[in-house]
Amino acid sequence: MNYSCTAYELKCNECGKRFGNQPLSACPDCLAPLEVAYDLEAARGVFTREAIAAGPPSIWRYAALLPIPAGHQPDLPVGFTPLIKANNLGKRIGATNLYIKNDAVCFPTLSFKDRVVSVALANAQRFGFETVGCSSTGNLANSVAAQAARLGIKACILVPAELEAAKILNTQVYGARLVRIDGNYDHVNRLCSQIADEYNWGFVNVNLRPYYAEGSKTVGYEIAEKLGWRLPDNVVVPMAGGSLIRKIRKAFQELIYLGLVEEKPVRFFGAQATGCSPISQAVKLGNDFIEPQRPNTIARSLAIGNPADGPAASQMIRATGGWAEDVSDVELVSGMQELAETEGIFTETAGGVTTAVTARLYAQGRISPDELTVACITGNGLKTTDALAGHYPEERAVRPRLADFDAYLRELDGAAEPELAAIGGIHAN
Ligand SMILES: *Cc1c(COP(=O)(O)O)cnc(C)c1O
Ligand SMILES: [Zn+2]
Repeated sequence: MNYSCTAYELKCNECGKRFGNQPLSACPDCLAPLEVAYDLEAARGVFTREAIAAGPPSIWRYAALLPIPAGHQPDLPVGFTPLIKANNLGKRIGATNLYIKNDAVCFPTLSFKDRVVSVALANAQRFGFETVGCSSTGNLANSVAAQAARLGIKACILVPAELEAAKILNTQVYGARLVRIDGNYDHVNRLCSQIADEYNWGFVNVNLRPYYAEGSKTVGYEIAEKLGWRLPDNVVVPMAGGSLIRKIRKAFQELIYLGLVEEKPVRFFGAQATGCSPISQAVKLGNDFIEPQRPNTIARSLAIGNPADGPAASQMIRATGGWAEDVSDVELVSGMQELAETEGIFTETAGGVTTAVTARLYAQGRISPDELTVACITGNGLKTTDALAGHYPEERAVRPRLADFDAYLRELDGAAEPELAAIGGIHAN
């Protein structure tokens, strides 16, 4: 496999100035975020359905449109996660053509962040950083720690103090240095910018952010390829910083431009938790700016009160004719349970948000039942088991005898359906 890339460099979204390739995230002149711009014409002969099909079953099959350094040999099979038809969930929420993109099983750390980190770390190596890091709401920390360990790079990771225990352990186990900051994500992120300058470290979502963000495009490529090189009518995407949802759109536009899919309008729907919903608020109010919020939700992976890509995400969602919704913590927990009970997918709180928002969009009539819709599940429920604490009874132990088991079952059924049990006269006691 030849991982040759199309020529690319950093470009300012606002003034169009170009910066070559360097660890830089904002334009020094107008402070706008930088984005990776490709020579798309040169990609025509390389980024084809055939060449992609001949590639490995990982995000590296799309390497021709990823910003990885020439000669880079990625070895981790990241991404290429299942896209499944969700008929059971669909029945419950009134959808007949609903798919789940399941990044709860992304390799290696069970969230879509593995995609962005593998692209960012390739660039960290190329720029010669000896230490990498990130400001994280949890999943990014896990992925940077794991992939840095594999590459033999030192990692220093900063997280808000109030993070799920599983996500903290899931960072420490890889040998990364973890620093809990007494503040929320926005405090952590500001501090990371200062540290990156002071220590000359490569922060994947700070000074390496333009490269990092491109990794999210692979979700869009995979959706289109797994639909048989078609675009869906709608996508529903959870939003933290607002990067993933924009990059899925960028991926679709590249595929249209290069002729891999037929052009069609795709509407983008954003999902947030009400306790941290600056982007969905902006969409509902028709704003291109963000009113920062102080996060207060158990969907910690989405808890960014002042999202870097929020203004652009709000603008893009409305331009596609989409919408954004937000759900309460109670609703998102129900969403987690509903997805698990119907499709056998255990997602984390962020996936509960996506599931509950998707249900609401059908209920509101914003998405019609037969439209081809993809809901993006981005993380794994084993990392946020705290969210379900107290939702299931702690069962007492039963003696290993058939009679005890019989009695126990009757007791359970009796508890669940007291009327039926009474009628049948089989009340266990
Ligand atoms: C980070 C994250 C997101 C959102 O990512 P952005 O690109 O910052 O909007 C969604 N889901 C999960 C599980 C995440 O960890
Ligand atoms: Zn500029």
